[in-house]
Amino acid sequence: MSSILIRTAVVVLLLAVLGFGTGLAFGAIWGWSFFSLGLVGLLLHHVRHLNLLRRWASRSLTEAVPEGSGAWEEVFTLLYRRQRAETARSRQLAHSLARSRQAGRALPYGVAILDDEYRIVWCNDSCEAHFGIGAEADVGHPITNLVRQPEFVKYVAAGEFAKPLQLKTTRDGLVLSVQFVPYVDSQLLLLSRDITQATRLETMRRDFVANVSHELRTPLTVLVGFLETVRELKLDPERSRDYLNLMAEQSRRMQRIIDDLLTLSTLESTPEPPHDEQVDVGSLLSRIHGEAQALSAGRQRITLDAEPGFDLLGTESEIASAFGNLASNAVRYTPPGGEVRLIWCGSQKGAEFTVEDTGVGIEAEHIPRLTERFYRVDRGRSRETGGTGLGLAIVKHALARHQATLEIESTPGTGSRFTAKFPARRVVPARVRTETL
Ligand code: ADP
Repeated sequence: MSSILIRTAVVVLLLAVLGFGTGLAFGAIWGWSFFSLGLVGLLLHHVRHLNLLRRWASRSLTEAVPEGSGAWEEVFTLLYRRQRAETARSRQLAHSLARSRQAGRALPYGVAILDDEYRIVWCNDSCEAHFGIGAEADVGHPITNLVRQPEFVKYVAAGEFAKPLQLKTTRDGLVLSVQFVPYVDSQLLLLSRDITQATRLETMRRDFVANVSHELRTPLTVLVGFLETVRELKLDPERSRDYLNLMAEQSRRMQRIIDDLLTLSTLESTPEPPHDEQVDVGSLLSRIHGEAQALSAGRQRITLDAEPGFDLLGTESEIASAFGNLASNAVRYTPPGGEVRLIWCGSQKGAEFTVEDTGVGIEAEHIPRLTERFYRVDRGRSRETGGTGLGLAIVKHALARHQATLEIESTPGTGSRFTAKFPARRVVPARVRTETL
């Protein structure tokens, strides 16, 4: 501004000097006329620029700054620079805002901003998915009108938000952890987290502990009962031996359960088997065939039909455990006189190990649950035949670690077929082995 003042003062001074000169040369009237006209011209110049400035200021901030002359040139240049800096700043702000919004939208947690009447101001994608609401359509509506579950409405009405609410929604068994947090200007943040998986794991853990305790308590109770009897009563040697045999049987049962639990825990806690150990499937199957025959003790006819030519890549003990469990199940659930077939076939596209039996079979409704820990169709039969209820869980885990799947087909009263399917990347041509005769 000071530059306008100085420049204007200089111009006025110049006009005065020139007016004085004109007055001396042509008379005072001409001198005063020149000076007055000069002042009017200067005034018009300022008025024109002031007008340009007023017009520019009344328009949007992005409007180009007008060009000025004389002292106004500097003013407009300053305004232009300022406008450029402001435009860059607001572009940067808009960019940061858009990024924050994007981050807010993409958060795996549901976030909604609510006003003091619990009306939605804004919400992100996860919140929309969690509560089945629409960010655009439902803005302005109270959340309690949209989420009507009684426990949620009660939680909001109580206004006690120190503890999160566990909310079972009606959609696909989705379980949410919901919490309200105070936000600026008496607004509230509604935070929601999908805890379906965590809740399921927690239930599984609780069931598992209950199952293990139950499974171990039964033989332990029997064992303690016999011990008391042997200690309290005077028994003849034959009776004592019978009791000791029964006690040994219960101890073996507990041992089998613990062994299977340890196998499962190892399968769960160790890294996946590498692809560099070649398992000689031919000799593994001969071993399993032998074990199945020993278990059957001639009660069932057990055959092995193994196509030579392909082996597996993986951990032998795990594959042996999976195949062995399938074979022993077939023997245990096939009545005397029945048949069990062990079949192996492979190709470049993959390989399959199938165990077929003519046993008791399984009702269709049990099939999806057979690989759950301690799930049995017939508890009595499983126990009679030395089952732990963990065999198929071990099979499933051991196979999954080799990217293999288990397929089960069964007809009650006719028999079952369990097939372990291995993908091509786990199958290799068998090594040529020299047989020692
Ligand atoms: P278990 O130790 O009780 O045999 P598994 O996990 O090996 O436990 O099997 C789970 C259940 O699946 C068994 O209790 C049995 O009811 C059923 N099952 C498994 N294999 C067969 C089969 N080959 N034939 C009929 N039922 C079977």
